[in-house]
Parts: sequence; structure tokens; C-alpha cells
Amino acid sequence: MENASVFGAGPRRLREVPREKDHCPIMERLKHHDILYNDDPLGPWPTHLLKRLDKPTNKIVGPVERRDERESPFGKSLLGGYGEEIQREFIRMTVRYPLGASLVDMQNHINTIMRKLNPVATEKAPIPEDARVLSRHLKALGYFLGADMMGIGLLSQSAVYTHNMKGREIEAPFKYAVVFLCRKHDPTISASNGWEEIVDGASFQTYQRLAMQTETMANYIRRLGLEAQASNMNRYMTIMPQIVLDAGLGEVSRMGIILNPFLGCNFKAACVLTNMELETDGYIDFGLQDYCGKCTICAEQCPPRAITRGPKTLYNGYYTWKLNSKSCSDFDVLNKEGCVCGRCTKVCPWHIPGQEPRDFAEWDGDLAWLHSRVDEQRQRVIANGYVDPTEHAQKWWFPLDEVDGRLVVPTDKNRQKICRDYPLQNPWGANS
Ligand code: SF4
Ligand code: SF4
Repeated sequence: MENASVFGAGPRRLREVPREKDHCPIMERLKHHDILYNDDPLGPWPTHLLKRLDKPTNKIVGPVERRDERESPFGKSLLGGYGEEIQREFIRMTVRYPLGASLVDMQNHINTIMRKLNPVATEKAPIPEDARVLSRHLKALGYFLGADMMGIGLLSQSAVYTHNMKGREIEAPFKYAVVFLCRKHDPTISASNGWEEIVDGASFQTYQRLAMQTETMANYIRRLGLEAQASNMNRYMTIMPQIVLDAGLGEVSRMGIILNPFLGCNFKAACVLTNMELETDGYIDFGLQDYCGKCTICAEQCPPRAITRGPKTLYNGYYTWKLNSKSCSDFDVLNKEGCVCGRCTKVCPWHIPGQEPRDFAEWDGDLAWLHSRVDEQRQRVIANGYVDPTEHAQKWWFPLDEVDGRLVVPTDKNRQKICRDYPLQNPWGANS
């Protein structure tokens, strides 16, 4: 492709740089590095072609109250609010599986960075002050660190937990959230039925990367003499669905979480909070409210039927398809055939296995074309009986589970681990 750059592809258009802000020597030198100053797309996916709005596509009437992490279903599970069995199983949930335990160990190790966070440098570095240049710099850094998609939004205090799981009060006196999305390992998700033992492992593999990326960026910004703090796994200060929405990286979906037009919900997110003056991206509209209004695949394929088939309802000041999060969480925690669940995100037709940025090389932002790809995936999913062909032959992980302190191969249930064998795979049957 002509004029392709390391960050993205597209025509190079030099932008007029505001002269009055152009005083520092680094700024002078950087003018030759025009990726910071032109309109070239950053990142592999064509986010620059999405329609931008100044408010989200789901109605918000407010007020949106801050929430306490201890009151979330996982918080209650951990703290015993749902009884001893759920508390016990929640604590074992991922580490029952040797690969899950390895990933959690590494995540915990990354989190020890908290004990030695570098301070904000006393002197501010001689960097540009143009918010657009700084935003492009941080996004380019995010891609350099390995993010799949970056976005910037204003930090709303309603997206900040009041307290963390340990009961510590959370304060986040920051203006912006720089948001990182990392895609979960697509072949693994496709080969799983959506709730096997690899599913939480696939999330933690992504959380690890996000934690390293966001801690590195926050550390860097502090070295530049500006405040920054990372919000990532085991120390999320922020409610990520709202943060992802506000950064223009998706719309509210029937699953109750944020769906991205190119990744579906097959991603995890983390962010860096900062007061560096930045430019926000705006909300996006790719027609998901209508699409989810007509589609119910995720609701039909949810084992505990936690996803509504009905319309959006008002919850905490905004309209959403309200997930029965207790049912979802209980299924995650008590899942004896695997580890947590992501079945809805796997079967949603916006998750198109194998979809890559090169598939959008000729895309001009036409939503009809985007929706036709999703419709094709929808037809494939239905034709295959909601079983991805790779589920039959590409499960690379060992189905080990810990029982009474020993690793065993579970033999009593659903040996093939193909989703249609699961008894709840005939939803909305005679009894519904
Ligand atoms: S994660 Fe599983 S249990 Fe939860 S809503 Fe999705 S399909 Fe249902
Ligand atoms: S499966 Fe259908 S209804 Fe559910 S989130 Fe995806 S597109 Fe929306």
C-alpha cells in the first residue's frame, strides 16, 4: 500500500503546527517526525474512519453513581457475601488449573511494581505542549508497547470505584484515561467452547500484557514530570466498561459490556490515568444499538441465561441491556467443567475469528459493508450449530484440574468439551 507507515496506513497529510506553542528544542527536532503532526492513522485498525459523536449511543439520564468494588458480584463472591462455597471456589477459580496458576503468579509478580513506583519528576521535561501531539505520542507509545487499539477519553468520576476490594478508599484526581485494548488469543478462544479451563487463562495472558504496557506508560509520564497512574488487573481503580465507552472504543452491547467494531468483545482493557493535557477521541456509532436490538445470539447461548432477550432498561442512570451479573458470576465461579466463562463473547458474530486489519485495507467506513461481514459470521455460527470448526481439533491445552491437591484429568462430564453437548445448549426450549 502506498505511503504505509509503521503505525498504520493511509495518505500522509502534513498538519499546520500552532506556531505559538512551538518553542522547545525537542519540538523543533520533532517536526521532522511528522507522524506526530500529520493526520496519518495510528494503529493497525481503521478507527479513524468511525463516526464520532459527543455522547454515547445508549441514553444516559443520570445521575450515574460511583460504585464500590466490594459490591460487585466478584467482590461479594470473594468477601463471602454469597456464602462459603462460592467464596471457596472463587479463591480457587483460576489457580485450580496449572496454567491458570502460572499466569496468575506472573500477574501477581507484575503487580509488585506498586511497591516501588517511581515518583513524578520534580522538573517537567522539555516536551511539546500541543494536546494533539501529546495524544498521538501516547497512542504511538501504546502501539509500540503492544496494544491492539488505543483511545483517549475524559475520566468521569462515576467510572472510579469508591473503594477497592480491600476497603481502601479510591481517589483518582485525574482528567484523562488513556485506554489500551489487547485482543485475547483468537485461535485459543475459537477452539474453546467458551467456558473451558483455558478461558480465564486466556484473559490473564491478556491482563499481563496490559499491566506491563500501562505500568510502563505511567512510569514514563511520571519521568516526564507529569502525574500518571495505571489501572490494571488486581488494582483496577476504574470500571473499565465505562472507561472503554468514554474513550470511543466501543458501544454498549446486549451482553452489557462494551463491544468494539473490529474485535467484538474478544479483548481486555486497562488504562493510564493522567493530567497530561490531551485530546479526546469522542464516542463512536457503528450501529450496534440497532444490531443488538434485533440479535439475541448471546442471550440464547448463555448457559445460565444471564443475558436478557428484552429491551434496554434504566440502571444507575443509564440505559443498558442489564446483565444478571449474579447468575453470570455464579456460573463462572461454580463452573466445574472449566474456568469462568466467555461464551457470549465467543459466539457473538462481531467476533470474527481470524479477522485482521488487512481485511479493512479498502474499507472507507461504510457501515453496510461492516454489518454484512457480521451477518456472514452470524450465518456461519448458526450453520455450524454454534460450534466453531476448530473446537473439534485445535484444543492445545491439557484439561487438568486440581482435586484434593492432585492434578487429574476430569472424566465425568462432557468429555469432548464441545458446547452442543452441554445440557443447557438447548435454551428457550419447551420450558422457556
Ligand atoms: S460470560 Fe457466560 S455466563 Fe456470563 S453472560 Fe456470558 S455466556 Fe452468560
Ligand atoms: S450476540 Fe448479537 S445481541 Fe449479543 S452482543 Fe453480539 S450482536 Fe449483540
